[in-house]
Amino acid sequence: MDYDPDNIFAKILRGEIPSTRVYEDDETLVFMDIMPRVDGHLLVIPKTPCRNLLDASEGQLSAVIATTQKMARAVMKAFDAQGVTVQQFNESAGGQEVYHLHFHVLPRHDGVKPRAPGQMGDMDAIATHAEKIRAALEG
Ligand code: 5GP
Repeated sequence: MDYDPDNIFAKILRGEIPSTRVYEDDETLVFMDIMPRVDGHLLVIPKTPCRNLLDASEGQLSAVIATTQKMARAVMKAFDAQGVTVQQFNESAGGQEVYHLHFHVLPRHDGVKPRAPGQMGDMDAIATHAEKIRAALEG
């Protein structure tokens, strides 16, 4: 399968469509999921093209996992969470919908189930959650 340079996350990387960004470094970008399953649900992506885990380079994977750990720690702090769920899907049969490698990071609380998928989030709430994560990263 080839990489499609016009996938939604490639457009977000190029700044062609808006996103609520919370962190970036030379190799990775982090922004809020627009359909959050829980408050604070974010996505970690490499800045360079790859479709998913199956075609990613070791360099892309190590950068993305390092940032995923950083964000997992940040959401634990920002949301006073008791745990973190990390999800990653590969190809349509594997549940992937956007074909640029990404890891989902979801802060979790005991007894709280994630919301159903596919529901647009409230953009003001997402902005507030992003600010909490940025503050946790700085603190
Ligand atoms: P997956 O490919 O891992 O199954 O799901 C893609 C994820 O990207 C979903 O959680 C979905 O809510 C999120 N998503 C889809 N389109 C956009 C978008 O335009 N902006 C943002 N921030 N997230 C998106």
